[in-house]
Amino acid sequence: MINISHLTKKYHRFVANDNISLMIQDGEIAVLAGPNGAGKSTAIKCIAGLLRFEGEIEIDGFNNKSLEAKRILGYVPEIPAPFELLTVWEHMEFIARAYKLENWEQRAEELITRMELADKRKRLGKELSKGMQQKISICCALLIEPKVVLFDEPFVGLDPHAIKELKTMLFEMKEKGTTVIISTHMLDSVEEFWDKVFIMMNGRIEAERERKAVERSGENLEELFFSITERGGSDKEEVSG
Ligand code: ADP
Repeated sequence: MINISHLTKKYHRFVANDNISLMIQDGEIAVLAGPNGAGKSTAIKCIAGLLRFEGEIEIDGFNNKSLEAKRILGYVPEIPAPFELLTVWEHMEFIARAYKLENWEQRAEELITRMELADKRKRLGKELSKGMQQKISICCALLIEPKVVLFDEPFVGLDPHAIKELKTMLFEMKEKGTTVIISTHMLDSVEEFWDKVFIMMNGRIEAERERKAVERSGENLEELFFSITERGGSDKEEVSG
């Protein structure tokens, strides 16, 4: 579960996240949608505990900067940053040691196989293509069997096989009760599995929808997205008024 209350993040005077509050339950896949610069990555980095911010963020009831939260949190950044001088397999070993995992080898093997990295296990981080770096980043985040996972634009740069595999993994995570946030500006990439969507603009959440409500009302996610982002305003007045 992720619970965010009044998250505000400023870069000097610029407000990149403006009083964001949201809740995502176990087993839910939430999409953070919005145009470039809306504040999606900033929010994800705040949740991951990488930035200072005002407000509160809880991961499964733990403050997001606590060790308890970090133990159960996986983060796949927008720009992968593998260790240049560790091989693919050594990345798995590093994470296993850092998180004190036991009997992790089989899971690591399965992950690198599914991401088509098994035959590249001896390649150094710096020798991997951008897409392969993205794949190793996904394997590292998922090796710990996180209860909460943050994906920042995960489909950008992945080949079709990896996109398909990642989507299958997302369904599996959902079944296991994992909480997932995916940031994206490509709504069609998340069409099959989203449960909740938050449309961000200018650092604020301008609209929030549950899948069931969208399906019931016949509202189209893409149309909703454009109606919010292209008129540059909130639909909150309409909701409350
Ligand atoms: P998104 O992920 O939705 O594209 P970001 O969270 O990356 O948006 O950026 C939100 C806003 O914050 C943008 O205007 C961006 O220029 C600004 N921003 C992001 N990172 C920094 C930073 N390190 N310093 C100053 N401004 C930043």
